[in-house]
Amino acid sequence: MNPALWLERAARLNPDAPALLVGERVVADYAAFYDRARGLAGAFRDVYGIRPGDHVAIAMANRTEYLEAMYAAWTVGAAVVPVNAKLHAREIAWIIDNAGANLIVSAGAVLADLRPEPDIAGRQLIDVADDGFAALCGNRPVASPVRLRRDDRAWIFYSSGTTGRPKGVIQTCGNIQAMAQTYFIDVDPVTRADATLYAAPMSHGAGCYNFMFTMRAARHVVPASGGFDPAEIEALAPKISNVCLFAAPTMVRRMVSQARRSGYDGEGLKTVVYGGGPMYVADIIEAVEVMGPCFVQIYGQAESPMCITALSGTLIADRQHPRWRERLGSVGTAQSCVEVMIANAQGCEVPRGEIGEILVRGAPVMAGYWRNDDATREALRDGWLWTGDMGAMDEDGFVTLHDRSRDMIISGGSNIYPREIEEVLLVHPGVAQVSVVGQADPEWGETVVAFVVAEAGAAVAATALDAHCLANIARFKRPKRYVFVDDLPKNAYGKVLKTTLRGMLED
Ligand code: AMP
Repeated sequence: MNPALWLERAARLNPDAPALLVGERVVADYAAFYDRARGLAGAFRDVYGIRPGDHVAIAMANRTEYLEAMYAAWTVGAAVVPVNAKLHAREIAWIIDNAGANLIVSAGAVLADLRPEPDIAGRQLIDVADDGFAALCGNRPVASPVRLRRDDRAWIFYSSGTTGRPKGVIQTCGNIQAMAQTYFIDVDPVTRADATLYAAPMSHGAGCYNFMFTMRAARHVVPASGGFDPAEIEALAPKISNVCLFAAPTMVRRMVSQARRSGYDGEGLKTVVYGGGPMYVADIIEAVEVMGPCFVQIYGQAESPMCITALSGTLIADRQHPRWRERLGSVGTAQSCVEVMIANAQGCEVPRGEIGEILVRGAPVMAGYWRNDDATREALRDGWLWTGDMGAMDEDGFVTLHDRSRDMIISGGSNIYPREIEEVLLVHPGVAQVSVVGQADPEWGETVVAFVVAEAGAAVAATALDAHCLANIARFKRPKRYVFVDDLPKNAYGKVLKTTLRGMLED
C-alpha cells in the first residue's frame, strides 16, 4: 500500500488537527498538509514529469517541507531517496547519480554546494526556500495517491558500505508498513495528542518515524533551529507536551548533561527512543534518574529499518527485576514483526549465550540493495538478513551486541566506514599506507583515528591530511587524530591487523 494513503485518511478524518509545526508555531493543519503535498505532487507529475517508480532525492536539513516533499513523491508513486545533508556535496551527488534520481529537492547551503557538482548537471532541482515553492504546492493537485503494491519501492536509504561506496537499501511499501505498525506494539502507542520532534536528521531514523504520527494525525515538530540543541528541546517540550523523539545515545548524553545544569526534569517529554549505536549502562541509568522513565531502546539497521529488537520503557525502569542491570546492557528482545537468530558462519543457530552473527527475517527486511546484486546476495541468504553485527541471546531472548563483524565506527550516532576514509587518504601523495580505526570515547562513543605510514622521504603533516579530508569527505568522518608509524601490523596474508591498532590506542 502507498504510505500517502495514511496522510489522505488523516486529513479527511482530522482536517483541523495541527500537523506541521516549526517550534511552537503551527504552519499547517492536516487539511493544509495534505493539500500542499497533493499540490506539490501535481507539480512533480505535470511540471517535472515524475512517474510511478521514479526516484526523488531529498537533500536538505530538517524542515517541514521535507514531509511535504516525501508525501508528494509517494502520492505520485515515486520512491524517496533521503540523503544525509551533512555529507560532502560530492558524496551527495554520487548518491543521487547512483540512485538515478530524476528530481532533487533541496535548500540553502546544501543546494548551493551541490549545484556545481558534475553528477548533478542536467538534473531537475527544486529549491524549497525559493518563493516559487509555494506556487508549486498550489499546483493542480493529484486527486488521490497512486496505487502501490507491497513490493514497490518507497524509500531508498544509502548506508555506507565496507567497500567504501554507500549502498542503497531498498525499503518497500511493505517494509515501511511493518515498521510503522510494529512501533505501536513494541515501542510506543502514539495518540493524536502526541508530537514527534525532529531533533535528529530526517534523512535517517527520525524521518523513518514520521509514519506513525501521520497515521494518528499527531503533530510533526521541527525545532526552530532545524537541528539538535538540548536547551531548545528543554524549553520547547513543556510548551508542546507529549513529545516523542528519536535520539542517538550521544544525543541522550548531551540532553542529560544539559538537564543536570538547568535542573530540567523531562517535563513535556513522553518518549525518547534511543538507538543507532551503543548506550553505556551507566548513561541510561543516569538518563532515567534525571529525565524520568521516558526511554525505549531500539536496535535496527537500514536493512531492517528500526526493527530488530527493542528494550521497552517498562524494562528499562524496572529496578526491582533481578536481572535489570544485565538487561539494560542488552538491546532487548526481538520486535514482534521479526525473528532473530544468532548463527555461526554456516548459518546454524548457536546455543543460547554463545556469540555469533545476528540474523533477522520478517516483514521489515529490505528487498535488497539498489543495483548491487553482489551485496544483496551477501546480505540476504536463505531468507535471512545477515546484519554484520555479532551478539549473543540469553534464555529469555535478550540480545547483547558484542562487536561488529565489520569494522564500522559509530561516532555521535553516525556510522563511519574506515575504508571510505582510507581511500581518500591514500590519494594524498604523502601517504603510503593507512588504516583507520575507532577509539572509544566517553562523549562520542568512538572517534576516528588514522594510522599513517608516510611515503619514503615525504614530510606529511596532520594538518595537510585534515585539509585533504575536508576537501573530499563529510566533516564528521575526518580523523580526529593521526598516528604516524613506520609500518602497519599485518597478518600472514598481508591483511592489516586492526585489532592490534585498537590495542595500541588502548595502551
Ligand atoms: P544504520 O544502518 O545506519 O541504521 O546502522 C545500523 C548499525 O548501528 C547496526 O547494524 C548496529 O551495528 C548499530 N546499532 C543500531 N542500533 C543499535 C543499538 N541499539 N545499540 C548498539 N548498536 C546499534
